[in-house]
Amino acid sequence: MSNTEPSGSTPLLPLNWERLLRGFVDILSVDSYWGNEERVVAIIQPRLEAAGVVCRRDQIGNLICRWPAKGKDSPPIMLNAHMDTVLPTPEMTPVVKADAVYSDGSSVLGADDKAGVAAIVEAVAMVEEAGLPHGPIDLVFTVGEDVGQFGAAAFDPNDVESRVALVLDFGGPVGVICDRQAASCNFNVTFHGNAAAAAHPETGKSAVSMMARAIDRMPLGPVDELTVANVGIVSGGDARNIIPSQAKLVAQARALTQEALDRQVAAMRTALEDGAAAFGGRVEIETEQRFKPTWFGHDHPALEVAYAGVQAAGLEPRFVHTFGGSDAQNFNEKGIDSAILGTGYQDIHSIHEWMPHAELRKLTQVTAQVILNT
Ligand SMILES: [Zn+2]
Repeated sequence: MSNTEPSGSTPLLPLNWERLLRGFVDILSVDSYWGNEERVVAIIQPRLEAAGVVCRRDQIGNLICRWPAKGKDSPPIMLNAHMDTVLPTPEMTPVVKADAVYSDGSSVLGADDKAGVAAIVEAVAMVEEAGLPHGPIDLVFTVGEDVGQFGAAAFDPNDVESRVALVLDFGGPVGVICDRQAASCNFNVTFHGNAAAAAHPETGKSAVSMMARAIDRMPLGPVDELTVANVGIVSGGDARNIIPSQAKLVAQARALTQEALDRQVAAMRTALEDGAAAFGGRVEIETEQRFKPTWFGHDHPALEVAYAGVQAAGLEPRFVHTFGGSDAQNFNEKGIDSAILGTGYQDIHSIHEWMPHAELRKLTQVTAQVILNT
């Protein structure tokens, strides 16, 4: 059954809903946790090749594809989605209901990010079937995103010609476009005190007390509109009756501008040093910044192509920022300017994850319009 999406003034391509849904459910039904992404490749590669897409795997397993231009000479654009999911992934039994696809409750659904994968594969088929002209398209389906963007980190930007990308992997509704992406700074911190018997605490200096003071004085959570921060792991001490000589914490700051990040890192450093000083100890602080903050102007080609695609699909584009990590950060770092698109998936990283049919249809139409508007 084919049917045409309702639209405003824009004529949309006919969307084969049955095929889109089947393609989505097929890839949802395989466990493609990090290391098993070839199960998704086995399903989508033949479908892409049937539309004239040329596919290969890179060293880490990313599926790198080129869809040659047809009757149009425009700069190439890259579309990306990741093939892996988070755990748990025991059976992967998607349940199709009238309004949405749900997990059966024993695993994640995996719409993050298979909604993006399915939309790209179907959009390519739609445009190919319609026989319409389009520019050259690079398709990159990454591995290992949810375990730490392993695939995107290992990705060689010279494997594609595009220097602009759209990453279909954001939790907002279809139509939102991330124009700002945060940078982060990781902290590995060790407090050093003096051990002493708890019964004779006079000579002891508690590293745990230093750490507690530091955390209490540290700006954390939503710090301001540009900044978030978190202490993620604390550890320390040896026994109930020994004043702890050592305590460790792992923390992270994320910010949308470099100034905000520098300010937050300095505030955290001060709190850590003051905490140690308050109990006569010392602290070792290792920091490592990951990525640069990205803030595109609205005339940036990545945002222009995203905006045009959303609008052509009959939706209202809306710009948002994100503090989240994504493959886009790695692409940006490698010289491929990447905007992130809302995909409409719901309650991700949980066994309650679900994907509304309406959002999958919209995402596919937006992707098709992006391809047509290149
Ligand atoms: Zn994702």
